Amino acid sequence: MSDSDSSKEKDYWEDTCRMIFKICDQFEEIPEKTIKSKELLICLKKQKVNSIYDWIDKQTQKINSIDCEMYLKLSQNKHIKQYIDDFLENNKPEKKKEKKIDYWEKACELLFTFCEDNKELPSKNFIHTNKKKVKILENQNAETIHSWLIQQTKKIKDIDCELYKKLSKNIYVKEHIDNYLKKIEIEEKIKVKNTEIDQSVWNKYIGKHIKKSQCWCCGCNEITQSKFYCCPVLSEADHNLNNLRPVCRKCNKNIGDNNIMVYVEILVNINEPDDECEQEHY
Ligand SMILES: [Zn+2]
Repeated sequence: MSDSDSSKEKDYWEDTCRMIFKICDQFEEIPEKTIKSKELLICLKKQKVNSIYDWIDKQTQKINSIDCEMYLKLSQNKHIKQYIDDFLENNKPEKKKEKKIDYWEKACELLFTFCEDNKELPSKNFIHTNKKKVKILENQNAETIHSWLIQQTKKIKDIDCELYKKLSKNIYVKEHIDNYLKKIEIEEKIKVKNTEIDQSVWNKYIGKHIKKSQCWCCGCNEITQSKFYCCPVLSEADHNLNNLRPVCRKCNKNIGDNNIMVYVEILVNINEPDDECEQEHY
């Protein structure tokens, strides 16, 4: 590299630094969005980075202590100083052990801050561009703060667990989790009810103490108490005990919206007297 190239590069660096300092002061933070300044964009491009964050991050990687020249230069701006200090703090060898817990807390803080600032939950499409925030989420195996919330919500089984207590401190998050818990409670009830109906159908048409039998429809495929389908005789009628019959998977699938009697008739006509049913494999 010639002297003039090197001095040009130095100029780009100095210019970038000056512009970024000004922008950070103006925004009172390191801005996440792209700044529409042609001059700055050119400077960033010359230094092979795309955003203010990339640039600060690139410089930060070169810092290993608060005594180095880079630190002294960049720490003149308090917002950038905070970023570098956080970086140095998190990269202390003894800090690395506690990292996992820290990242959870930080992701939680990220979510709460978003909710407080926007008075709502982050949408699916909201993406943080701030590198530090992206890193927090990456460490939590989440692409967005929304997906982090979904991940956490799925781990909650009731309002007595620690996770619920921690996350429900924010009203928006609490509302989201409460709705989720209500939904799974309803689903669970439906599941239990369906199992009860299934059991009653088996008891009525096969017999409570019989474990295995043949499909009510084809009379050929085997069905068991734990593996059979409840098919309505009349699909448009209520799906109650009188209108349901225990059938095999194949019949359940083939009947579709037909009347079960019509299907049985078709089945009888198709099957020659000596025809054997295809053995059903579940
Ligand atoms: Zn069948």
